[in-house]
Amino acid sequence: MKFEFKPHRRNVPDSELIEDVQRCARRLQRNTITIAEYERDGVFHPTTLTRRFRSWFRVLEVSGLEESRSKLNISDGELFDNLRSVWTSLARQPRYEEVRSPMSKYSAGTYENRFGTWNQALMAFIEWVDEGQKDPCEEDSTKADQKVERRRTKRDISERLRFSILLRDGFRCLSCGRSPLKSPGVELHVDHVIPWSSGGETVQENLKTKCADCNLGKGNAFRE
Ligand SMILES: [Zn+2]
Repeated sequence: MKFEFKPHRRNVPDSELIEDVQRCARRLQRNTITIAEYERDGVFHPTTLTRRFRSWFRVLEVSGLEESRSKLNISDGELFDNLRSVWTSLARQPRYEEVRSPMSKYSAGTYENRFGTWNQALMAFIEWVDEGQKDPCEEDSTKADQKVERRRTKRDISERLRFSILLRDGFRCLSCGRSPLKSPGVELHVDHVIPWSSGGETVQENLKTKCADCNLGKGNAFRE
């Protein structure tokens, strides 16, 4: 395999990036392409595309392609969701060798096949998490939520948004500082700062991590 330098390019028009992704998918004779496959054949660095379009999901969408799926029909979303759950149960970033059964539904090798390397899988995952923060309603907004007072968000915190708050807060209670990492058994909740019922929105700025005790008002340390 010959080495090709793939520049990060900022000034290439969107259309040129999209055409290159479409060209690579055509060569594979498929209606989708993984980051790993694009990295092998594409003109540009995959990060150029994920930065421009925010996620590989969106790259596929704007290119008129479908979400990547493995032979076992596992979608990128399922892989990310599994990683979210492994990360949450560890309360920290999973190590390569930890990503296997029974903690993880899919092996680290599955992630490597899809994203090229374990690191790239983690980068794609974080982009996916960040994208979820931008529009908390995206997952299942319905017209019923927009009745009477106009609310920007719904009350329910999606798993993806919840994870991004845990990640931001370092998987520890912002009131008492306890973390399941150091105190096994501590259960973390993500809750509204201004209650939703009082007009608080389900957005990053209005959400914080608390342990079950502090959240239910039973915490005795540092209570205001
Ligand atoms: Zn606490």
